[in-house]
Amino acid sequence: MKLAIIAHDGKKAEMVRFLTDHTAFLQRNDVKLVATGTTGSHVEKAGLDVHKVESGPRGGDAQIAAMVTEGLIDAVIFFRDPLDKHPHEPDIAMLMRICDVHNIPLATNQASAGLIIRGLE
Ligand code: PGA
Repeated sequence: MKLAIIAHDGKKAEMVRFLTDHTAFLQRNDVKLVATGTTGSHVEKAGLDVHKVESGPRGGDAQIAAMVTEGLIDAVIFFRDPLDKHPHEPDIAMLMRICDVHNIPLATNQASAGLIIRGLE
């Protein structure tokens, strides 16, 4: 089971708290994590193993979208910051579209991410 984790800068602290609250599940041997670059560094600091791709603005969201397309991702947890602008908005929209194309669970806030984790558990 592979989860993709992404958080915009304004949501990274919230993401770390969320991961800490779900450590028991996320540390399971059958759960693998992939994250955009800066988010991944925070995931590591939270004590979890993670495969890091490029930072979001440098193409990381596009890399994760490609992994979704290839059938390598089972769910995407993407804490977007709806109160900020992002230079890579086209990549963000593309990732969300690709999740819909391939029917991959996508959580864009903490409440829905919690439901996805409970479903996967
Ligand atoms: P980051 O990218 O984890 O490298 O900050 C996230 C994003 O902005 O999509």
